Amino acid sequence: MSVTKTPGGQMNRDRYAELKNILEERRREIMGQVQDKIRDVRTEGANNPAVGVLDAAESSEADIQDDIEFALIQMKAETLHKINEALERLEEGAYGNCFECGEEISRQRLRALPFAVRCIDCEEARETAQKRERMLSQRSAASALYFDMSS
Ligand SMILES: [Zn+2]
Repeated sequence: MSVTKTPGGQMNRDRYAELKNILEERRREIMGQVQDKIRDVRTEGANNPAVGVLDAAESSEADIQDDIEFALIQMKAETLHKINEALERLEEGAYGNCFECGEEISRQRLRALPFAVRCIDCEEARETAQKRERMLSQRSAASALYFDMSS
């Protein structure tokens, strides 16, 4: 066996195990949901002898329902993909640290938001900055409107 990299890089072993656990738990949960959904869709189709005699309105309603189910499954599949990417990053030691300041993102925060890329302090600072920006741009839009009207 030729292991060239330590899983998690320089990350502390406990933290590595914890983060891996958070991601794998989330992955299991979503995989279960996807399997349930797929099973639902299949049994509905199989137990529905009315398929084929639905009038147009009913069948288009069923189509919409199918589209919603499909969109849901697709969303979950995307989340699964993101989790797998996060697990890969974790192996490289590139997961769980703040993108801005490099500090560890708290376990609680990652549990709630596994794809968080900033620690709570940086996230709050960013939100405050965004709010300020929005206010400023609203103000300048308002004054532009004022100039338009007065000219
Ligand atoms: Zn930070």
